[in-house]
Amino acid sequence: MTAPTITLSKEERRTFFDALKMLHGHRCPMSILGARLGLAARAHVGRHGESGDVTALYHHQTCAIDGIQLALGTTGGNKNIEARPEGEHRLTATNKTKRMYITVRLSEEALRRGKEYAELRSAGGDPVKMEEILLGLEEAPEEELVEVLERI
Ligand SMILES: [Zn+2]
Repeated sequence: MTAPTITLSKEERRTFFDALKMLHGHRCPMSILGARLGLAARAHVGRHGESGDVTALYHHQTCAIDGIQLALGTTGGNKNIEARPEGEHRLTATNKTKRMYITVRLSEEALRRGKEYAELRSAGGDPVKMEEILLGLEEAPEEELVEVLERI
């Protein structure tokens, strides 16, 4: 299924991922991939506050939550994000105002790259190679990392 996508300029992307690092406290694959899921969902349902009343449900308790919060404006403070520890990298974002929603999940390729990073880190880490993986996750075309399961 193809979906509308949000294209950030190089500068917007840097600002966004710098803000993610500040929010999350470190750079890691899952916070970035959460942001990619959130941005993919945002292309359809918009951002909370700007596009109406948006809520998010994520079926995993990981660093991805912070990327989703930043991308969608669905935050703990707004009480419009829920994380269920079900071990599934799947996000449903709903725009209650516009009565529309989208469900997206991480692709096998996204998980493979996340795993590659984790293996490098536990092996003591090659910082240059690790940063390359993170930049790759920030810049990869959306269809490489995100699958759209349902959209209404
Ligand atoms: Zn993290």
